[in-house]
Amino acid sequence: MSLQAKIQDVFNEPACDKNQGKDAKARKKGCSKPLTPGAAAGGCAFDGAKIVLQPITDVAHLIHAPLACEGNSWDNRGAGSSGSDLWRISFTTDLTELDVVMGQGEKKLFKAVREIAERHAPPAIFVYSTCVTALIGDDIGAVCRRATERFGLPVVPVNAPGFVGSKNLGNKLAGEALLDHVIGTHEPDDVGPMDINILGEFNLSGEFWMVKPLLEKLGMRVRACVPGDARYLDVAAAHTAKATMMVCSTALINLARKMEERWGIPFFEGSFYGVSDTSDALRQLAKLLVQQGADPALLDRTEALIAEEEAIVWQKLAAFRPRLEGKRVLLNTGGVKSWSVVSALQEVGLEIVGTSTKKSTVEDKERIKQLLKDEKHAFDAMAPRDLYAMLAENRADIMLSGGRTQFIALKAKMPWLDINQERHHPYAGYDGMVELVRQIDIAIHNPIWSEVRRAAPWDDNECMRDTNIDAIDVDFVAHTRKKFVETTADDLAEC
Ligand code: SF4
Repeated sequence: MSLQAKIQDVFNEPACDKNQGKDAKARKKGCSKPLTPGAAAGGCAFDGAKIVLQPITDVAHLIHAPLACEGNSWDNRGAGSSGSDLWRISFTTDLTELDVVMGQGEKKLFKAVREIAERHAPPAIFVYSTCVTALIGDDIGAVCRRATERFGLPVVPVNAPGFVGSKNLGNKLAGEALLDHVIGTHEPDDVGPMDINILGEFNLSGEFWMVKPLLEKLGMRVRACVPGDARYLDVAAAHTAKATMMVCSTALINLARKMEERWGIPFFEGSFYGVSDTSDALRQLAKLLVQQGADPALLDRTEALIAEEEAIVWQKLAAFRPRLEGKRVLLNTGGVKSWSVVSALQEVGLEIVGTSTKKSTVEDKERIKQLLKDEKHAFDAMAPRDLYAMLAENRADIMLSGGRTQFIALKAKMPWLDINQERHHPYAGYDGMVELVRQIDIAIHNPIWSEVRRAAPWDDNECMRDTNIDAIDVDFVAHTRKKFVETTADDLAEC
């Protein structure tokens, strides 16, 4: 399928309600909003594809581009790996103007694949096209096919050059690359009735490791977690799983739906953020597995585990109540499902004075309304100046948001906690929720806030405050300066 046809196919997503609510013309334009002149455009399609595939840890990710497209591959989004570090190493063909003029792109790419195969012997190499290499017409598909035959390992083309669209489109094109070249290419010999896939889970700060033990307690085996801490062969065998959970995002919805169509793997969308969402996700997984032929006793075992875990987590959260009771939280969360975090924070006595519903569904918004004392506290998107005003006027004690809005809180000298993808703490599952509340406690009670809010010495000093700058004696200043220079010179001479 040509890239153009693939993009149109991705734009028509039957499993996405929003997409199906559009007419054919609007659907063709895709999901991204038109850009605002002067505003930062965000990531390109290549960036989106790489975000989705890079955390597959034992794969070498080769960027066919001039050097700048690659950026920082080592510390990109904080996904955790329990094995190889190969995925974090930058591999790029580093195309120069001369290579472009002399038509050396494909040759350079083939050489780079050879070098990676010989030096690192990975189970697979993913090759990403970018604006420059797509515009000069390099056929990465043909090079990858030749390299696969020559070096005897899968060399997978990821055709999502930056100019074709947004980061979200790139996410979906990455899913298509997995469908076309990876999933279904390996037949494991240990297929079981409790095998599941988790799609769209990035294992940020290793947070999926807080959920995996729960699944294992129920006897579920994660066949493939795409992409967080994934191994190539597990992804290649993902078609043998019995159920799929798509984590809190429509980024890989095309992958989940097509896997259902091709291999009959049912899927649902769930979240591991918040106590009730985690419990719901476990219930849904158990239900799908039973529908697919697993032992029905799994349902009771799941309920028992949920009851046990919830009792423990609420007990742990209750310990924070005396320190956090009555503190006011402003949530500007974006992708994280606002209502589940809202309900968990309220359980420890925190008051939610504002929560964004930017990416929430109609049902999510309804639940938020029920949870909040005042439904005006739910806002679609708040302008930075309004966020600042809320914090500066002391109408909230802490803001929870992504890194981009952190400086609003810091400028207002108010505590802030990162809950988006660059964060350094895991918040998934029951223990993740306890960690989130612990971090809120640490942030609010950090002694730095009383320090930075104190008036500066010159604001506090009556003498200085009353000084009229116009009345300063110019001769006195010149004399003091001369004296200072002389003293310093004497000190230096002594040294
Ligand atoms: S792929 Fe294109 S838009 Fe993306 S980083 Fe490279 S040059 Fe920029």
